[in-house]
Amino acid sequence: MAIGAGNKVEGGCLCGAIRYTVTGPEMFTSQCCCKDCQKATGTGHTTIIGLRREQLDLRGDPKTYTNGGDTGGKVTRHFCGECGGRLYTTGDLPGDEVLILQAGSLDDPNVVSPESVIYVKDAPSWDFFDPDLPKFEAMQPRER
Ligand SMILES: [Zn+2]
Ligand SMILES: [Zn+2]
Repeated sequence: MAIGAGNKVEGGCLCGAIRYTVTGPEMFTSQCCCKDCQKATGTGHTTIIGLRREQLDLRGDPKTYTNGGDTGGKVTRHFCGECGGRLYTTGDLPGDEVLILQAGSLDDPNVVSPESVIYVKDAPSWDFFDPDLPKFEAMQPRER
């Protein structure tokens, strides 16, 4: 499944203080097992959707947390200050216009399906992934 070009889907945090509309198409959907995703979500992996920033129409004012990312830049995670619900992540490297949306924040997460598993080097031994999906030790190489 994928968000078709020009299609709009809705999402938001657990308490509803922050809502958004995403306009398709997404660039990718992956399962990310990196350590930071584990710590930020308290789960074995998180399901992420790659978008360009202008594809997210945000209503509300998320809190943020910034730390150093794997690729050398800074990574900022945006979440609801009321309920703690994770929403999306942005980077600060020049030309980095990708926004990483948390698939579980969509009202209907079934509009997408993961195409790969990334950062499998960090995955906990008890987490399970679709054996048919391509797996990458770290970031998935892709052309912009
Ligand atoms: Zn909330
Ligand atoms: Zn991650």
